[in-house]
Amino acid sequence: LGQKITASFNKLSQAPIIDDELLDEVLKDISSALLHADVNVRYVAKLRGDVKKRVLMEGEEGGTNKRKLIQKCVVDELIGLVSAEKEPYKLKKGKCNVIMFVGLQGSGKTTTCTKYAHYYNRKGWRTALVCADTFRAGAFDQLKQNASKVRIPFYGDYQETDPVKIAGDGVELFRKEKYDLIIVDTSGRHKQETALFEEMLQVEEVVQPDDIVFIMDAHIGQACFEQAKAFRDTVNVGSVIVTKFDGHAKGGGALSAVAATNCPIVFLGTGEHFDEFQPFDPSSFVSRLLGMGDLKGLFQTITEAMPLDKQPELLKKICKGKFSLRDLYEQFQNLQKMGPMGQVMQMIPGMSNMLPQGAEKEGAKRIKRFMVMMDSCTDAELDCEVVMSDSRQLRVAKGSGSHPAEVGQLLEEYKRMEKMVGKMGKSGLFGKGGDMTQ
Ligand code: GDP
Ligand code: MG
Repeated sequence: LGQKITASFNKLSQAPIIDDELLDEVLKDISSALLHADVNVRYVAKLRGDVKKRVLMEGEEGGTNKRKLIQKCVVDELIGLVSAEKEPYKLKKGKCNVIMFVGLQGSGKTTTCTKYAHYYNRKGWRTALVCADTFRAGAFDQLKQNASKVRIPFYGDYQETDPVKIAGDGVELFRKEKYDLIIVDTSGRHKQETALFEEMLQVEEVVQPDDIVFIMDAHIGQACFEQAKAFRDTVNVGSVIVTKFDGHAKGGGALSAVAATNCPIVFLGTGEHFDEFQPFDPSSFVSRLLGMGDLKGLFQTITEAMPLDKQPELLKKICKGKFSLRDLYEQFQNLQKMGPMGQVMQMIPGMSNMLPQGAEKEGAKRIKRFMVMMDSCTDAELDCEVVMSDSRQLRVAKGSGSHPAEVGQLLEEYKRMEKMVGKMGKSGLFGKGGDMTQ
């Protein structure tokens, strides 16, 4: 999807004049890319209409750069599509937050419950899990295993066959023990059917959740819309988590889920591992979708790991689109201090290419080797004040005990990043430096 839209943007920037005909053509291209990515038809039509209206209106004002305007409108509309009017439920301190997870079987509920519990547990919330799935054989064992891996207390019952009773008992137990966050995993079915919805309603009644999170598999494509709507119409869904956003998910279905439920997406699941879970931010999502690299996400991650006042220089440079080998080195250092490498890497423009699919460990090792090579560079080389001639590359290779071809790879990766960062800095898509770093 990203590539196709970027191609349309390129068409736009190469055209000598921008008339209505070209606008229609570009919008047609973008619409077909969105449809292809499983975005629901009616939202594609709406987006197309809205962009056109806005471009015609604002373009009239004169002095505006039409190319930029069209691009901005498309990006804005896409962000609008993944933003819900409703605010997501915020966990409240000093009370017992009960969150219920619903979704079809196999959508990733049990896995996501654990990720969610793990995420908040690491942020200091006392968290517990309740397994109210008696439908699937081995459901309790699965939750038990997951919970033990991330060391979260759990409740379940092998003998009891009534999920409503288990849910009620589990929540009551943890409420008494004054947990901050109690997560209730429910059962799914293969299809949306009356029995499932009936059970969900009963569990909702007995546990009185503060929020109901609908879990949806990104792979289900156009069916996302109807499925999300069916759940939303039955129970009081407040948030959405889209899972399996790794691999080849097209992403368009996720966009449609927001539209169908009018509930915000709060997290994305990006792998089977419990760390493969990230908070959802509409503008980061869209820029990643469009292959622009997720600078905002990177800034957030960097500033979480290291307070801004310690590295205003780096941020300023990136905002200006300047990027030296030394900056790359500093980024690598920061990355190493941060959480799971794979996800952080994906957020950096160009970085995701460095990682073979699913091989985060390899990526981390590669970064270490790159850093050793950079340790053999002179100051002038790190600051990109001299050209990295063959003889310099050879010296660095020798000094770091690596193959000259590896040094070549490092420089190639650096160039790719520099180019991307340069583009980002110029595009101004992410506003001024100030609000990027909030
Ligand atoms: P449930 O039936 O809704 O409880 O779904 P499960 O949590 O049992 O997950 C079904 C399968 O999807 C399991 O094999 C999970 O490992 C896998 N899964 C869940 N979330 C993700 C994800 O974000 N990415 C990938 N690749 N697999 C996932
Ligand atoms: Mg399950």
